Amino acid sequence: MSRSPVWHPFTQHGLEPDMLPIARSGGAWLETIDGRRILDGISSWWVITHGHRHPKIVRAIQEQADKLDQLIFAGFTHEPAEAVARGLVEIAPSGLTHVFFSDSGSTSVEVALKMALGYWKNTGKARTRILALEHAYHGDTIGTMSAGARGVFNAAYEPLLFDVGRIPFPEKSAEQQTFDALEQACGAGDVAGFICEPLILGAGGMLIYDAATLAEMHRICARYDVLFIADEVMTGFGRTGTLFASEQANVSPDIVCVAKGITGGSIPLAATLCTDAIFDAHLSKDRSRTFYHSSSYTANPIACAAAAANLEIWRSEPVVARIGALAKTQAACLRGIAKDPRFENARQIGTITAFEFSGAGTGYLADVALSLRRKLLDRNVLLRPLGATIYVMPPYCATADDLNGVYAAISEAADEVRP
Ligand SMILES: *Cc1c(COP(=O)(O)O)cnc(C)c1O
Repeated sequence: MSRSPVWHPFTQHGLEPDMLPIARSGGAWLETIDGRRILDGISSWWVITHGHRHPKIVRAIQEQADKLDQLIFAGFTHEPAEAVARGLVEIAPSGLTHVFFSDSGSTSVEVALKMALGYWKNTGKARTRILALEHAYHGDTIGTMSAGARGVFNAAYEPLLFDVGRIPFPEKSAEQQTFDALEQACGAGDVAGFICEPLILGAGGMLIYDAATLAEMHRICARYDVLFIADEVMTGFGRTGTLFASEQANVSPDIVCVAKGITGGSIPLAATLCTDAIFDAHLSKDRSRTFYHSSSYTANPIACAAAAANLEIWRSEPVVARIGALAKTQAACLRGIAKDPRFENARQIGTITAFEFSGAGTGYLADVALSLRRKLLDRNVLLRPLGATIYVMPPYCATADDLNGVYAAISEAADEVRP
């Protein structure tokens, strides 16, 4: 067989020459071309919420493809986009009244950063600095890498990255250091916005902090008129137990980024929500105050139809109860991990659990990640540890049996790869 021309994401082809071909999916499961079933323990990179191929989302995509496939979104609009925008404003934290569409989590964050800079430019104040948390991940474009933590992933691109103010991650019992650093940075008077992943830093290692800390960081930003940008790309749509993680802290950010789960994970779409103040700062008869951003596929009608169907599922199905049940099952499984001396730092927020190998370093390149991933796949479980951090983030339809299978596989595989 000739070598595939495909270059895969976050993949060292020298270590991983072979990709597993998948032909079908349904619920919490993937199926290979030869009929082997694999449990999707990471929701296909955190995007699948209800389950693969939710029938209402599949139908919405089919019906929309039959009516209007793509439309220039400047000068024109369409009902699926209007429905999604109305629906998002309805469910989002209060005060978020405008919706700008794009097509990935990274672009939703780029849009957020541009909105923040545009807001200050248009209000005539010299504020251009961005603050972000240590260990943050906000995407893989130049701008979002700049906001994210620096490391092996972006070392080669460092010369292109802009400087951001780095705020220490709020470690348990050391939150005051975070508050002090944030207060000091905000006090300089040049800060346009502070961006954070609410309650849990995903790619940074599933680092959890509490709602009171999120609320305090928001209060500090508000005190200094620093725009508070919540990157809910991963946390949005139920992952942390509530629709948005910001809700748990009763926080109304100035800007919220959503992507991954917005279409139930079926098809790419993203949105950046903002306040009247930010929209109004761009509202003018003067063209130079326009928000200059677009992607060709902004608000693609088929993607919007999928998102509208997702919002309808949230309205009409017991999604919150399902998430609660999944969180309970996850907690029961995690109790086994917490008692197991091979693991440490067992933690959970909502539907997500995470833990490390005892005594292992936490660097992404910790050798165990790849071998562990292979041992799990041998047992028909898809997980993708972040270095020594193992995490389980299944679709909400995953059953207790599914999860028992996942944790049994982890236990067996761990013995084979333990550092
Ligand atoms: C995944 C992720 C992104 C980037 O989203 P893409 O759709 O992969 O571009 C941004 N922020 C957070 C918190 C994420 O988890």
